[in-house]
Amino acid sequence: MKILLTGGAGYIGSHTAVELIGLGYDVVIVDNLRNSSEKVLDRIEMISGKKPVFYKIDCCDRTALEQMFSKENIDAVIHFAGLKAVGESCSIPIEYYRNNIDSTLALLDVMKKNNVNNIIFSSSATVYGAPDTVPIKETAPVGRCTNPYGWTKYMNEVILTDAAKADPELSVVLLRYFNPVGAHKSGFIGESPSGIPNNLMPYITQVAVGKLKQLSIFGNDYNTHDGTGVRDYIHVVDLAKGHASAIEYAMKHKGTEVFNLGTSVGYSVLDIVKAFEEATGVKVPYRIAERRPGDIAECYSDAQKSKEILGWTAQYNLVDMCRDSWNWQRKNPNGYEG
Ligand code: NAD
Ligand code: UDP
Repeated sequence: MKILLTGGAGYIGSHTAVELIGLGYDVVIVDNLRNSSEKVLDRIEMISGKKPVFYKIDCCDRTALEQMFSKENIDAVIHFAGLKAVGESCSIPIEYYRNNIDSTLALLDVMKKNNVNNIIFSSSATVYGAPDTVPIKETAPVGRCTNPYGWTKYMNEVILTDAAKADPELSVVLLRYFNPVGAHKSGFIGESPSGIPNNLMPYITQVAVGKLKQLSIFGNDYNTHDGTGVRDYIHVVDLAKGHASAIEYAMKHKGTEVFNLGTSVGYSVLDIVKAFEEATGVKVPYRIAERRPGDIAECYSDAQKSKEILGWTAQYNLVDMCRDSWNWQRKNPNGYEG
């Protein structure tokens, strides 16, 4: 069975490629390398023994997509491709809307023409906005996004759901990821943010490796157990396995289904700093700073539905996440550019 990973050269896509190859799937990657490096393909091969077929294509380019689909016999698509930086999405919103929405529309058109009926979409817990209660179930209200990036995720969910309503053959799985961290245990692939990281774990690992001076903790006056923000961190390899389960599900069902991919556990920023220091033996200097605009106090999943229907649960714990993030950072201080 052949699976197309759009954005497959990126952080989550590359880990999913390794997982799928390990399960015997053929993997085709389409990526415009806007936020990734072609070197990841060799790294995937180093881990899995197989190099995915690669097309340097922009997913908004229908003609290029059509040519690719006519060469490859695709059975299912995982649509990772997208721009994902919240802050940047506020500065260049039109580019975010165009890239993240045009790519889905083009893909759906070309899939239909080629009779490819299964699509898994990378959505995000960001669609829940500030939740009324935690843990968050899939039935919680969505569409209270606070930035253009979040809106693109929400709008893509609507587009895909409508497409499946109109086409009885189409199977759509919306995966709402919580906070992916960690890396493959080999240290060959991992998250390689360009510039100064926005997310907590890559910021911590860059402080630990000496690239950044100290961590700023954005607020310690939230209504949480220690005042710092609480999130549901999930090991990227668990996330990758969730995609394999979602493919199996999509092949057997029609219509749209939505699943949280999280651990159902919330950790605070201070919990993460402490766990990182314990797991690695490396100190992380920090200071308490102002709250970051747009941040919420608590966000963590209820992942029971994924367990019951997909048969998937996260296996890795916080120590594993910290150890593997650090292993990747230590071995690749400059990401794929090093
Ligand atoms: P990433 O930036 O590492 O990977 C995305 C890939 O898509 C990159 O390789 C980029 O070059 C490619 N891309 C972007 N626009 C493209 C286009 N028009 N055509 C072809 N390729 C294109 O990001 P990631 O962390 O691996 O995230 C994958 C998906 O999961 C994204 O859609 C992201 O929004 C979503 N997501 C990520 C997180 C997270 O915290 N990492 C959380 C929730 C959802
Ligand atoms: N955070 C922080 N310092 C940083 C980056 C993040 O204190 O340099 C906090 C942030 O306020 C939030 C948590 O860490 O409470 C996770 O932030 P991240 O940006 O990784 O994920 P998101 O906010 O998108 O869930």
